[in-house]
Amino acid sequence: MYEFAVVGMGIAGLSTAIRLRENGYDVVLLGDEKSASASCAGIITLQLEDVKDILLVKESIKIINDLIKDYSIDEVGVTCRGFISIEDSMEAQESAELLKKADVVFKQFDAKDASPNWPWLKISEDEIVTYTMDDLSVEADQFIKFLIKIAREKGVDLERDWVKEIVFGERHKLLLQRIGEVEADVVILCLGAWTRDFLSKNGIVIPVIILCAPAYRFKIDEEIMAFSDEVYESYWRPGVNRTIVGGGYHAEIANDPSLFFQKPHLRFRNDAEKLLRLRLNGKIEFIEEWSGPISITPDLDPILDNLPGYENVFFLDGLRGYGLMRGVALGYLLADIASGRKDLDSVEGYRLSRLSNLF
Ligand SMILES: Cc1cc2nc3c(=O)[nH]c(=O)nc-3n(C[C@H](O)[C@H](O)[C@H](O)COP(=O)(O)OP(=O)(O)OC[C@H]3O[C@@H](n4cnc5c(N)ncnc54)[C@H](O)[C@@H]3O)c2cc1C
Repeated sequence: MYEFAVVGMGIAGLSTAIRLRENGYDVVLLGDEKSASASCAGIITLQLEDVKDILLVKESIKIINDLIKDYSIDEVGVTCRGFISIEDSMEAQESAELLKKADVVFKQFDAKDASPNWPWLKISEDEIVTYTMDDLSVEADQFIKFLIKIAREKGVDLERDWVKEIVFGERHKLLLQRIGEVEADVVILCLGAWTRDFLSKNGIVIPVIILCAPAYRFKIDEEIMAFSDEVYESYWRPGVNRTIVGGGYHAEIANDPSLFFQKPHLRFRNDAEKLLRLRLNGKIEFIEEWSGPISITPDLDPILDNLPGYENVFFLDGLRGYGLMRGVALGYLLADIASGRKDLDSVEGYRLSRLSNLF
């Protein structure tokens, strides 16, 4: 019998469980390592289009820096500090205004000044480079393994099994896929793209669409910094052993969970490679590709709420393509709300009711 059962071992579930444990609660975390989080490109950047998202990432980076401070970067999976984006001058001006509003330290460079700093980058005269030095990039699967280790070290009990069904009651009973059951006072569902189907079994409809997005790893000659190309639309970060990981902004609808990790289309890979060659000199050699699910709400904000009709059951979903970077701060927030340290009304803009006109 636990005080809290957190379901889902992606970034949201792990962060929630870690925070609950930090505050001294008795926590079990259920699920397995196969997640969007472990399959994602691994970029954590403050260069987003919405001030409240930038503030979430700022908070996430603060928490991550604290969690990793006693470990080597290899152990954590960090491959890069800092991030640059390439934009036209108008976009760069808008980005600067957003970053200022969120009180983020950044620098901007025109092509002439950018070239000596990032000689590997092909940039044209009318483009601007925005540099945020606090950002980081990780090998995502290694980073998730590291967080699982941290959760265990902090005293979170891990149950590597899927939850088949939950019998809600005064004490909730979570029936496991393989064997047995777990009881808890409070249940927190961090099921990512699986949330919609799981809730629909309990008669709860959430308006999210699920997309399947690909990522690629190429071998390269250069040592690069993580970057996004907002002109031709691709994003990249350095990986281990002189590789580069990222892709174009490609995605397709994947309603069926069996399609969540499907092999990407060859045309997406060809396009991603073409986009990369627009920015990088030297030899580029394809190594591997994979994909994962992304769940998106109509207003692009996450849903963080309790389950309608159940005061002590909470869920978090809709982290879209920015879940690794925002998920840590959101998981901490969710833990504080579920344990009564913060009020649900403080996240009114993330509650399901804001979307009620849609369903
Ligand atoms: C190709 C790609 C690249 C991306 N790149 C980035 C990036 O660079 N930066 C960034 O910030 N974001 C990125 N994202 C988005 C990011 O991966 C997601 O937003 C984020 O991982 C969502 O986290 P989550 O914890 O909500 O879900 P997930 O990480 O998917 O975790 C959900 C977990 O719940 C488990 N689960 C589901 N049902 C059950 C059940 N019944 N019982 C037990 N467990 C269950 C699943 O197995 C899974 O482990 C990318 C996504 C993709 C696909």
